Amino acid sequence: MAKLIGPSCRQCRREGCKLFLKGDRCTSKKCAFERRQSLPGQHGAARKRVTEYGLQLREKQKVKRAYGILEKQFRKYYEEAERMKGVTGENMLSLIERRLDNVVYRMGIGASRTECRQIVNHGHITVNGKRVNVPSYIVKPGDVIAIKENKKDLQMFKDLKGMKIIMPKWLEFNSEKLEGKILANPSREDIDLNIKEHLIIELYSR
Ligand code: SF4
Repeated sequence: MAKLIGPSCRQCRREGCKLFLKGDRCTSKKCAFERRQSLPGQHGAARKRVTEYGLQLREKQKVKRAYGILEKQFRKYYEEAERMKGVTGENMLSLIERRLDNVVYRMGIGASRTECRQIVNHGHITVNGKRVNVPSYIVKPGDVIAIKENKKDLQMFKDLKGMKIIMPKWLEFNSEKLEGKILANPSREDIDLNIKEHLIIELYSR
């Protein structure tokens, strides 16, 4: 399966915000973005002029990089969102937020979306009792997400037991049972990344 590669911290500096790609390191003093916020590259600090197209492109790249999605799939989310009722930009973000790897991340099962994607890929997660190893699987309200029964003894999951995990109101997770539920579809305010989605829609509507 294709995935984004390259130095994670450089991506944060390129997008001008923290994308939280490296788990615990992102909230520590070691965060590269906290130490140096200039654009990457030899002339990074000198580059200033940004066109309207440039702004739109950067906004799209920011979302793709934060969620670890490639262009082809990202465009599919846009096309699907366009067919849905409501505001296209909000629909698109809601769809992306409902990806299984992101839900596992939001539930606190892994420290970063990259780690959670791997947890899903390795078949550690079930949806409504069935193993799902597709990170892009879109969950819906009522779905029960759990750690596979025979994987609960892995140290990484044992460490979660009893942990207090803060998560958005559209999700719940019982860290004793290692099981959670989708309570509703995420609304725009549930998505905490600083995203101007209208710029992405403008870019695709060109
Ligand atoms: Fe981005 Fe995390 Fe690296 Fe900080 S530590 S620059 S938030 S990936």
